[in-house]
Amino acid sequence: MKRILTGLKPTGDLTLGNYIGAIKQMINMQDEYDSFLFVADLHALTIYQDPVELKERIRKFIAMYIACGIDPQKNTIYIQSENEYIPAISYLLECNTNYGEASRMIQFKEKSKQNANFSVGLLTYPILMAADILYCDCDYVPVGIDQKQHVELARNIAERFNNKYGKTFNLPEPLLSKTGTKIYDLKNPTKKMSKSEDNPSGVISLFDDLPSIVSKIMRATTDSLNQIKYDPENQPGISNLLNIASSLTNRSIDDLVSQFNGKGYGELKKYVAEITANHIGEIQKRYEQIVNSELLDEILNKGIARSRELAQQKYEAMKLKVGTVRK
Ligand code: ATP
Ligand code: MG
Repeated sequence: MKRILTGLKPTGDLTLGNYIGAIKQMINMQDEYDSFLFVADLHALTIYQDPVELKERIRKFIAMYIACGIDPQKNTIYIQSENEYIPAISYLLECNTNYGEASRMIQFKEKSKQNANFSVGLLTYPILMAADILYCDCDYVPVGIDQKQHVELARNIAERFNNKYGKTFNLPEPLLSKTGTKIYDLKNPTKKMSKSEDNPSGVISLFDDLPSIVSKIMRATTDSLNQIKYDPENQPGISNLLNIASSLTNRSIDDLVSQFNGKGYGELKKYVAEITANHIGEIQKRYEQIVNSELLDEILNKGIARSRELAQQKYEAMKLKVGTVRK
């Protein structure tokens, strides 16, 4: 069975973008793949997180994954920081990464511009991500387009390590879903919807109450062309709403466009608001049943045991190759 892996950073509450772009993809693939899904809490630390909030959010993430439909029987679910071999592997990979290639990462360039006091962790974050991907020899990494470059970096580092020291890693590939890959901010539809966004009016959190979800969608920024057409370049707001609806209902964009052909933006918004609120409402009901159950700890214990075993094996194999051994 081929292996897939995805992690999400607890930098804010999970969003509709995370659900459509990452979690839903994992759900669609969980029957066919050996699936690893983790809370990337070490990655969250590249930007300061309130410690009390971070701790709460880690548990909320796990419960939300399961509420969304991630099956704990079919997935290895764990908290990244509980696997101490991953940072150790990351260090050995760092020593096989050029400073130039790390600093060319688009996210690093963008985020380091936003804050002059950025941490070294922001630069090494994609290498830690490479460790996440490479320790378990995963085959595919389902990601949104914003993460494709980082998966390619992981592949390049793995290839370099293999060439230098002999075959150690499987070469991973990014896996992009065909539709609805990227969900945009409702207020600013040329900007990605992000959970760490300060202004929540354009971001739908999976924890939002249902009336807020409806009101955010009804107030989404559109355009003045007054035509319902899928044209991400000239009509990013409308196209974003169509993408959301298509992903949540599994209906094609064409089908939706023909349903709303000649109708006003208000009608489309009402439809998208209703299906989104219903969909998230169902997830929230399941979440409430799970969040305080002891089952969560059982799932996490089982997940981290498997993850640590694989990472330990990989770390020891790497140490042998690079020569950091007693005998
Ligand atoms: P942050 O603002 O802290 O970067 P984020 O919302 O971008 O948070 P990440 O934890 O960086 O979330 O990413 C988790 C996964 O969700 C990745 O696979 C990423 O590609 C996907 N993802 C994030 N935002 C979106 C989005 N707007 N649309 C589709 N997929 C997304
Ligand atoms: Mg992100």
